[in-house]
Amino acid sequence: MILKSLKPLELLKSQRSIASIMGLSQKHNFKSQDILLEGLLNSPLTALSENEIIMKETVRKLANEQIAPCVRDMEKDGKLKESIVELLFQNGLLGIEIEEEYGGAGCNFMTTILTVEEISKVDPSVAVLVDIQNTLVDAIIKKLGTAEQKKKYLTRLAADTVGSFALTETTSGTDAFAMKTNAKKDGSDYIINGSKMWISNSDIAGLFVLMANANPAAGYKGITCFLVDRDLPGITVAKPEKKLGICQLGQGYKYTAGFLNESRIGIAAQQIGIAQGCFDATIPYTLERKQFKQPIFDFQSMQHQIARIATQIECARLLTYNAARLVEANQPFVKQAAMAKYFAAEVAQETCIKCIDWMGGLGFSKDFIQEKFYRDCKVGSIYEGTTNIQLSTIARQIKQEYES
Ligand SMILES: Cc1cc2nc3c(=O)[nH]c(=O)nc-3n(C[C@H](O)[C@H](O)[C@H](O)COP(=O)(O)OP(=O)(O)OC[C@H]3O[C@@H](n4cnc5c(N)ncnc54)[C@H](O)[C@@H]3O)c2cc1C
Repeated sequence: MILKSLKPLELLKSQRSIASIMGLSQKHNFKSQDILLEGLLNSPLTALSENEIIMKETVRKLANEQIAPCVRDMEKDGKLKESIVELLFQNGLLGIEIEEEYGGAGCNFMTTILTVEEISKVDPSVAVLVDIQNTLVDAIIKKLGTAEQKKKYLTRLAADTVGSFALTETTSGTDAFAMKTNAKKDGSDYIINGSKMWISNSDIAGLFVLMANANPAAGYKGITCFLVDRDLPGITVAKPEKKLGICQLGQGYKYTAGFLNESRIGIAAQQIGIAQGCFDATIPYTLERKQFKQPIFDFQSMQHQIARIATQIECARLLTYNAARLVEANQPFVKQAAMAKYFAAEVAQETCIKCIDWMGGLGFSKDFIQEKFYRDCKVGSIYEGTTNIQLSTIARQIKQEYES
C-alpha cells in the first residue's frame, strides 16, 4: 500500500509554486517537498488521506475488539500476550513504514502516528511497542542499513521479530552519550561489553539496535549503532558479544539524537491517545451520574473543566500532527516535535487527573480504567527525553532563531 498524504498532487497541476504564493523570487530553489506543503496550506491539520483514514479505522476496530479484552489480564501478568504481538504482526502494525518488498505495509510516518494514538486509547503498553518498533528500530535500519541488512532485518521485523532500542545505562540516562558500553574490533566483528537498562520490550525482543562506544578515546564521537541478534551466544549482561555494525563508526551519537527527535512524536501520539481514551471513558459517566437531581455534566463548573481539557487535547493533537507532517515534508521539525512531546505528556497527566476527579470515588478504584491511564501516562514525561530536556531543546531553538 503506497500512501500519499493529503492531496498535494492535485495542486501540482496548477504549476503554482509556494514561492509565487509567498511572493518570493522564482529563482529560489524550492524542492518537491515545498510543493507538498503548498497542498497542505489548503487543508486543516487534522485532514487525513483516504489510506490514513482506512488505517486509523482499522486500528481503532482492532484495538477495541481484540486488544481491549486482554488489557486487564496483561496488566495482571505484567507482560504482553503472545497473541497480541502476533495480532500486531498479522496486521502489519510492526512494519508500518517498511517497504512492501520487505513485507512491510509501505505506509507513511503519519500512519504510524495515527496507529500509536488509536492503540494508546486502549492500551498504552501495546502502543509503545508499536511506537518503538516503527519509529526507532525499523526507521533506523530503513534509513541507515545496507541493502543486505535491510533484506535480512526489515523482513524479519515486518514478519515476526520484535526489536528493542538499547541506549540507556544505569549511569547514563539523560546524559546518554556518557555510556560505558564499548565495542572492540575483533577481526571482522566487534566484541561489545556493557549493560543496558530500561530497555522496553527487551523480554520479547529478537533484535537489539544497540549503542556502544567503539572509540572511547574520542568521547561521544566514538558512539556507534550495532544490530545485535538475541540468539547470538553471550548476550547477557557483562558478557562479550559479537555484533554487526550498522552505522559508520562514531556516527551513532548523531543518528541517535536525530532518530529520537523524530520518535518522540510517536510518544506525543501515545500521550494524546491516553488522554483521549481516558476522556472518552469518562464523559459518558458524567452524563449519566446524577447529583442534586441533574447530570454532573450539567454543572457549569464541570462543563468549564471538561471544555478546557477537550481544548488541551485538541491542541496537543494539532502540535503532534503538525510535527508529523513536517517530518514527512522534510522540513525542520525539532522544535515542534519537542513541543508536541512536552505538551502532550502534560495534557495526558492533567486529563487523567481530571477524569479521576470527575468519576468521584469510583475514579480512585482499580475497577475503573481511569486510574490505569493515570499510571500509564506518567512515563510520558520521562522516556525519550524528559520534559526538562524537551524544554531545553525548545529554548535552544528559540535562541538560535533570535540570534541568527
Ligand atoms: C518505562 C521506561 C521505558 C524506557 N524505555 C527505554 C528504551 O526502550 N530504550 C532506552 O534506551 N531507554 C529507555 N528508557 C530510559 C529513559 O529514556 C530514561 O529513563 C530517561 O532518558 C531519563 O534518564 P534517567 O532515568 O537516567 O534520569 P536522569 O537522567 O537521572 O534524570 C533525572 C532528572 O534530572 C533531570 N535532568 C537530567 N539532566 C538534566 C539537564 N541537563 N537539564 C535539566 N534537567 C536534567 C531530568 O529531567 C529528570 O527530571 C525507558 C525508561 C522508562 C522509565
